[in-house]
Amino acid sequence: MDSGIYQYLMDHRDAQEDVYEAHIFAQCISHNARCDNESLSAAMGLSQTKFRMLINRYFARVLDDKPIDRCIKEHLNLCTGLDYSCQCENLASDTPSSRVRDEEMNDLKLLLLDHSSSYGEHVDWITSMIAAACLRDNHLWQDLGLACREELNQLLSRYFPILYNKNTGNMKWKKFLYKQLCELGEVSVCLAPSCAVCIEYAACFGPEDATDWSQPTVTAAMH
Ligand code: SF4
Repeated sequence: MDSGIYQYLMDHRDAQEDVYEAHIFAQCISHNARCDNESLSAAMGLSQTKFRMLINRYFARVLDDKPIDRCIKEHLNLCTGLDYSCQCENLASDTPSSRVRDEEMNDLKLLLLDHSSSYGEHVDWITSMIAAACLRDNHLWQDLGLACREELNQLLSRYFPILYNKNTGNMKWKKFLYKQLCELGEVSVCLAPSCAVCIEYAACFGPEDATDWSQPTVTAAMH
């Protein structure tokens, strides 16, 4: 995560909006702000329209100085003193692998939304962020740009408490979500009839820590 971009977003947040939600979105945006292989909106699992709505709701002042033809990723980097040339325009958006990715994301989003405790566009955006992050290679909290697994626990317990409470074995979160899809017959991930006899047990239930992960600087008081 780029803490400069995170701080810039939080300094320009709309104070009328929920500070916890702004904090979560700012972390994910800043984490993806230098992602070269997809647009910032796609990296967060959002259409450009939904991403614009998110920015307009939580960080509208960020757009005050943005030239109309400059992409938001480039703008955020330039505003925090980083010279960054965005290549988003050259990326193909509709490929076979992107269609498979979209199907997988939709399954994950439906699973999350089926267990959400609240509704609204912000829940839809958080759900999309989590689904998109599930498709990457690190721990889920890392791919969301969060500071630690505990932050992910807070996020999931706040918006998806039923799902959160279901993870009684403290399974790694990505593994847990895919295990739910496996049980619904949407994907096949398990090699054994039960975790107790599975050779993947350590991979599914081991610790989700990372010693070299940078912590965000949180200046705003959380609700
Ligand atoms: S330990 Fe094996 S059975 Fe259990 S969730 Fe992991 S892969 Fe599936």
